[in-house]
Amino acid sequence: MSANFIIPRRLAAILNPRHSIRARFGLIIAAIALIFSLLASLTIGQTAIQQIEQDAGQNLADLSYQMANRLDRGMFERYRDIQIAATIETIRDPNSSNTAKRLLLEKLQNTYPAYSWIGLADPQGTVEVSTGELLEGADVSERPWFISGKLNTFVGDVHEAVLLASLLPNPTQNTLRFLDFAAPVDDLQGNFVGVLAAHLNWTWAEDLRNALSRNLRSREQDLLVLRQDGVVLLGPAELVDQKLNNLKSFQAASLSKTGYLNEVWADHQSYITGFTSSSGYRDYEGLNWIVLVRQRTNLAFAPAQQLQLQILTWNLGLGGLFAVLGWFIADYITQPIWAIATAANQIRRGDSNVFIPTLRGQDEIANFSRSLNRLVYDLTQKEGELKLSNERLQQELAERRQIEKSLRLSEEKFRQLAENIDEAFWICSADGTEVIYVSPAYEQICGYSCEMAYQNPRIWYDSIHPDDRNKVTPDFSREALGNYDEEYRLIHRNGSIVWIRDQAFPVCDEQGQVYRVVGITENITERKQAAETRLQLEQERELSELKSHFIAIASHELRTPLSVISMSLDLLQQPSENITEEKKQRYCDRIDNAVKRLTQILDDILLVARAEAGKLEFFPSPLDLVQFCHDLTEEIQMNAGSQHSLVFVCQEQIGQVCMDQNLLNHLLTNLLLNAVKYSPEGGEIHFELSRQQGNAIFQIRDQGIGIPEADQARLFTAFYRCSNTGKLPGTGLGLAIVKEAVELHGGTISVSSLVSKGTTFTVSIPIL
Ligand code: ATP
Ligand code: MG
Repeated sequence: MSANFIIPRRLAAILNPRHSIRARFGLIIAAIALIFSLLASLTIGQTAIQQIEQDAGQNLADLSYQMANRLDRGMFERYRDIQIAATIETIRDPNSSNTAKRLLLEKLQNTYPAYSWIGLADPQGTVEVSTGELLEGADVSERPWFISGKLNTFVGDVHEAVLLASLLPNPTQNTLRFLDFAAPVDDLQGNFVGVLAAHLNWTWAEDLRNALSRNLRSREQDLLVLRQDGVVLLGPAELVDQKLNNLKSFQAASLSKTGYLNEVWADHQSYITGFTSSSGYRDYEGLNWIVLVRQRTNLAFAPAQQLQLQILTWNLGLGGLFAVLGWFIADYITQPIWAIATAANQIRRGDSNVFIPTLRGQDEIANFSRSLNRLVYDLTQKEGELKLSNERLQQELAERRQIEKSLRLSEEKFRQLAENIDEAFWICSADGTEVIYVSPAYEQICGYSCEMAYQNPRIWYDSIHPDDRNKVTPDFSREALGNYDEEYRLIHRNGSIVWIRDQAFPVCDEQGQVYRVVGITENITERKQAAETRLQLEQERELSELKSHFIAIASHELRTPLSVISMSLDLLQQPSENITEEKKQRYCDRIDNAVKRLTQILDDILLVARAEAGKLEFFPSPLDLVQFCHDLTEEIQMNAGSQHSLVFVCQEQIGQVCMDQNLLNHLLTNLLLNAVKYSPEGGEIHFELSRQQGNAIFQIRDQGIGIPEADQARLFTAFYRCSNTGKLPGTGLGLAIVKEAVELHGGTISVSSLVSKGTTFTVSIPIL
């Protein structure tokens, strides 16, 4: 934007009341000043105008009153003049000469020039003497003034000149008009001798008017004198002799009122009209004239209108002055606000070096500037925090998008995985009453559709083989689900048996509560069948191995005594001279031992066979166990010879027990013989009997070759021999018989052994 537009815009903003407080303030002050001054001027002006109007009207009323008053006084003086003149002796005395009388009358006329004529008529009505000798000898007996004047003082109203019209000088050529005054004249004796009369020229009234209102003309005021019948006697030429009895002012004055009113006259102009009526003076009763003074209303009220105009002009001037004052005051007041606004704009544009100017003082703007400063500071802080928070949000948003993307990918992968693996993947509610998801493999496993599982979550449980239902726990607790891994059978929708492996895992919320369970169900039918087959094969292989082992052992173990027998018999069959008795006896003993060994082996084989067939019998009988063990130890010691020493220890009172002596004999003999057999020469065999919690504890400890750990698991299997037996003879049947004997007694057997250190067998048998 160019600078050319900035200045007008700024100026326009300053001048626009909507944008500028200055303009608004100036206008408001101007408006207030205008309203107040208008109200004041209206009130004052109205009062002043009313006053002026009243003054104007009153002035007119006063003028009319003054005129009426002057007329009455003037008339009274003339009335008095004629009365006094009628009493002057010269006039009364019939003997006085006419010349003297005329002289007197003319003197009287000279005292008041408005007298046009003064004369004395005799009792018959003939003018005897007069001023200027006018009308002397004329008959005036019919004149009203003579008729009335004979009786009393008479005042006659204005009338046009009758007899004198042609006799008196008339330079204006206007119609002469007179007022008549007459008074009876009596002689010194009181006899009526005539009537003294005077004609007063009506111009007298005009003079009065002129004297009264020298300024009337300049003010355009008209003074009118009307007769009591409304005929204009004196006034503007166009109105003289007009009858104006319709005027309200006339009618009001006729009622002896004095005042003024505004009315429209016959010329259709509005006039303020002052009015009054003459009512005589002292004993002069007056002629009831009406005096009106009129002035055109617009002229009369001109001062008021002028005043109004002046007030208006002043008001406008004052309004303007106040507007300018308001403008400057507002400028003074708003200057700091402008500075604040300018700073605020700069801050808004991002200028961080600018601060809101802080004003001194305690006024509103200073407080405002401080508050704004604090606000800007807070906002700046908040903006910073918001920016940070926004950046964090953006970052979180980006991370969330990334997570969502990963989630989508993961979900896609999961779906691909879940829908393509043979295992059924499922999610259900924590209580198992709702199936949330189950993968399509489910249909393959049990023959029911996923939709059916969603609609009826129990369908799975119902299809479990009744014998295996106890394996499927309805316990959905975290602990139970944590280890849940079961194999059980399902009855497929087509009726076939399906082996499955079912694993479940709890899904916990933030409080650690299980809210979902996920699981994997695997069809392991084939694996089961394979395992069964493998087991069978294994068993068969083991059997076969055992058989061959047995055959190998049997052949070896049986052959050895048979060979001994055979060799001994061969030696015995030698001629008797070649063989001593001693040798014969030794060979017989060898044969006997070999037979015993064979018998022993066959007994063991039969015993194991009976045991495996479950036909081994258990016949417990009372037994002195300590003695039994003692005797057995001695017997074994005798057989073992001096290379081994057997020690039997029993430090507790065992008392009478009830055990199968035959089985116990097999049990202990085998263990003691093994200890002897697998111990080096000079080894000590420790046999200890004790009693613990109702059990007889037999412990046989040797210091022999020991049993490798790998062999310990199969130690009690028939025909099994450990890897370290070397050339030591044996069938591997002894411990199988021992185990069977222990189990028939309801006891337990355990072994602890270290190779080359020794072996300890511990047998625990309940004392019946
Ligand atoms: P038989 O007892 O039938 O003459 P055998 O002693 O070999 O033969 P078992 O008594 O059943 O058979 O013993 C099985 C195997 O356990 C033995 O072959 C031997 O390897 C091992 N064994 C048993 N007792 C001991 C022992 N005290 N010390 C070391 N090895 C032993
Ligand atoms: Mg043995």
